Amino acid sequence: CWENARSLFSQEFGDATFKSWLSPLTFGEFISGRLIVIAPTRFRRDWIQSHFSQKMLEILQRFDARILALDLIVTPNSTFNGTSPVESAEARIKDQAEPEDRNIQVIGSRLEPRYTFEAFVVGKSNELAHAAARRVAEADKVTFNPLFLYGGVGLGKTHLMHAIAWHICKSYPQRRVIYLSAEKFMYLFVKALRFKDTMAFKEQFRSVDVLMIDDFQFISGKESTQEEFFHTFNALVDQNHQVIISADKSPSDLEGLEERMRSRLGWGLVADIHPMTYELRLGILQSKTEQIGREVPLKVLEFLAHKITSNVRELEGALNRIVAHSMLVGREITIESATDVLRDLLRANDRRISVDEIQKKVAEHFNVKLADMHSPRRLRSVARPRQIAMFLAKQLTSMSLPEIGRKFGGRDHTTVMHAVKKVEELKEKDASLTEDLDLLKRMLQT
Ligand code: ADP
Ligand code: MG
Repeated sequence: CWENARSLFSQEFGDATFKSWLSPLTFGEFISGRLIVIAPTRFRRDWIQSHFSQKMLEILQRFDARILALDLIVTPNSTFNGTSPVESAEARIKDQAEPEDRNIQVIGSRLEPRYTFEAFVVGKSNELAHAAARRVAEADKVTFNPLFLYGGVGLGKTHLMHAIAWHICKSYPQRRVIYLSAEKFMYLFVKALRFKDTMAFKEQFRSVDVLMIDDFQFISGKESTQEEFFHTFNALVDQNHQVIISADKSPSDLEGLEERMRSRLGWGLVADIHPMTYELRLGILQSKTEQIGREVPLKVLEFLAHKITSNVRELEGALNRIVAHSMLVGREITIESATDVLRDLLRANDRRISVDEIQKKVAEHFNVKLADMHSPRRLRSVARPRQIAMFLAKQLTSMSLPEIGRKFGGRDHTTVMHAVKKVEELKEKDASLTEDLDLLKRMLQT
């Protein structure tokens, strides 16, 4: 089984990564859900742990759903090799780059070969983001600047970002592209500060043709990084160089962002990705089954599209699991077997209404800013919707009062309790509030 896993690793991670990182790993043992894998050095262990272990686990789970965790350990006689894992790894990534993607510098991770425009299924909820991404990737001069893509977890932001990068890399090999996460940007910036090397940092980022930053929300509240990014951003945009950003919220809803930053982020095109509709989920499943090259009955795909509504990542994971299971046991895939294999996932999707979702719907419904759900403002016109959102959070999720309080800008549980009581009181007297609540609940539950 370890041999099979190794060949899948090599397929999924690519030959180069496999050879340089994963091939020396050996199988240790399997104890109560934990698979123990041995790495030859601590350096290698740490690097694999932070870069590949999550995906390795996912791959292993396709073989055997009993594997719950992956423990990487080091053989006893090995020693740490001295250089910082991150630095030497960065050097390696640059060395390893294929000749044709030398113009792309991907810092901290690599571009996923599967994340292309061809593999991206378009539907109503993501058509704007997709069209904008394509336009920016294909255009021979800067069109929307910046392009700001936003949407919830697992809805395809990173996929679109990589697709843009791949496309530019193929069609415009002379353009220099940097792709990194906001977290990595901050890490490099802090490091540059520490080593008094900010000039090189500035030069590196201000001289590119295309700067792509993924998961921008990470920068919220990090003042000096934000400041530095702001200058980089201005320098690039002023020279008419492309900036592409993804985040989990729109510029106006990102918290802890300076006002001037917020407004500049909205200058180009802001495109959102909505939660998927049933049709799109089904479309994605069909395209993924074609990619895997396995027959899965339409009925089962429909079942999955109905049941797993949270995000595409889970949907994909579910499909992989049932396909792997049927290969292993050599039986056909049916709704029954799928239900069986996916029991935990189906349960989690059953009752998943998130506080974020509630806040968003309530804010829309009462026409207040999403940020007001977290803000300290006490004005009745914003405090009331906030209380209603707290009330719904209590009713529709399994979160405790303190947990809910934290989701509302760090309020304490007595405030939540008060809000719940208050809304109950008001409901008694005010029939239109009852109607509002019913409507909101219905929207959230479908
Ligand atoms: P995000 O960055 O928004 O959290 P990702 O881009 O990582 O989400 O997407 C999660 C997974 O779902 C990826 O494997 C991606 O390929 C897949 N995915 C998301 N949207 C689509 C889509 N429209 N078509 C095909 N695959 C998609
Ligand atoms: Mg992402």
